[in-house]
Amino acid sequence: MDGKQYVTEVLDKVKKRNAGEKEFIDAITEVLNSLVPVFDKNPKFIENGLLERIVEPERQIMFRVPWIDDKGNVQVNRGFRIQFNSAIGPYKGGLRFHPSVNASIIKFLGFEQIFKNSLTGLPIGGGKGGSDFDPKGKSDGEIMRFCQSFMAELCKHIGSDIDVPAGDIGVGGREIGYMYGYYKKLTGLNTQGVLTGKGLTYGGSLGRTEATGYGLVYFTEEMLKDNGESFSGKTVVISGSGNVAIYATEKATELGAKVVALSDSNGYVYDENGIDLDVVKEIKEVKRGRIKEYLNYVKNATYVEGCRNIWNVKCDIALPCATQGEINKEDAEKLVKNGVICVSEGANMPTTLEGIDLLLENKVMFGPAKAANAGGVACSALEMSQNSMRLSWSKEEVDEKLKTIMKNIYLNASLAAKEYGKQGNIVVGANISGFLKVADAMMAQGIV
Ligand code: NDP
Repeated sequence: MDGKQYVTEVLDKVKKRNAGEKEFIDAITEVLNSLVPVFDKNPKFIENGLLERIVEPERQIMFRVPWIDDKGNVQVNRGFRIQFNSAIGPYKGGLRFHPSVNASIIKFLGFEQIFKNSLTGLPIGGGKGGSDFDPKGKSDGEIMRFCQSFMAELCKHIGSDIDVPAGDIGVGGREIGYMYGYYKKLTGLNTQGVLTGKGLTYGGSLGRTEATGYGLVYFTEEMLKDNGESFSGKTVVISGSGNVAIYATEKATELGAKVVALSDSNGYVYDENGIDLDVVKEIKEVKRGRIKEYLNYVKNATYVEGCRNIWNVKCDIALPCATQGEINKEDAEKLVKNGVICVSEGANMPTTLEGIDLLLENKVMFGPAKAANAGGVACSALEMSQNSMRLSWSKEEVDEKLKTIMKNIYLNASLAAKEYGKQGNIVVGANISGFLKVADAMMAQGIV
């Protein structure tokens, strides 16, 4: 059997077994198709049933999360944790609280996480979790009661050598704090390495808050440099205005770019003078408000309803940092028409498969999420190291390590692309480079 036949056979099984789980099937299709040359070169992987094993989560937990709202009503949400692959280390991946969360989304994120974590070069396996709980508009007390109920079940399945969750959409420092506090109360353990993204006073790492956004910019700068370009003097559009978007804006601006637009799920703001990040931090990190409020501070900026419209804004570099599926084929066409030279993903799978194909056909440099946004999880792994050593590194030390990791991710992905005949295609290169390490570890550990 050749690589193409093997991949087609496994994909057919995945589609049947996970019918209706679109995001999961899309993620698997994208990764598996790019691995065909790997199976042609390494038939031992086929004999070992490696793909059949890697597409099936090692463990999948779904649970009830009951909590009481401020009016005294009982609310019930659904919690998830997918422990996808532990071949190279404890499961590691964020928790997402958003009404769109379902099994398909958590599975696609968990699957991507396996390869992302492998790319960092650090010993962490792949996992992901979350809930369909909507934190928007909830009081602090409601958030705390929800987090405690969520942890009451999750604590049975995690541990610093088992599974180490972190934040994601809707889960920031406040939520991690509430969950860590309750974990300690329930278990009596002060094992700091059980969660990452913690506050600096109780085991968090300096630089973790900034790591995904900064890492995205470090990775993208490497890709630009490799193609004779840089951030300096470029116009940049960034979607979202959460953790990743804010720190990508900060670092891109520091490198001499002008970020002219940011969004949230309602719409986007455009500021031709360059976004004033202090204002955005005040709105989003302090007041937890809407991006529209930017106009209250910066009079000559404009606001446009509808978050997708942001891709109409002319730019050299686009950094999607909001959510999955936010750049489809039509959005990609708009970007190309407006002369974009580079699209690099801060969010997880923000570009659809058709969107990616269109960008690559038009020779746009493309940084896929699993490589470009790996800085967050890499820094989480550095937090785990510091927790194990009971030491804290300086911000500069963490940032230096992050920079090296992101450079290596780009280098390894571009070398793998070249070796497998797809020079310049970082999508394929990242999949292959991430896969090979996991595959070798799985081969060495037998059929488990
Ligand atoms: P935040 O919750 O801090 O911010 C998310 C941002 O995206 C908000 O501005 C939000 O707007 C917007 N958004 C959410 N859903 C939608 C939607 N359906 N349409 C348009 N905009 C939307 O999350 P993060 O910044 O942490 O995460 C952003 C992305 O980056 C996610 O895909 C996440 O998985 C990925 N990521 C995050 C990492 C991290 O370390 N934080 C690590 C690696 C990847 P609104 O407020 O209106 O909802």
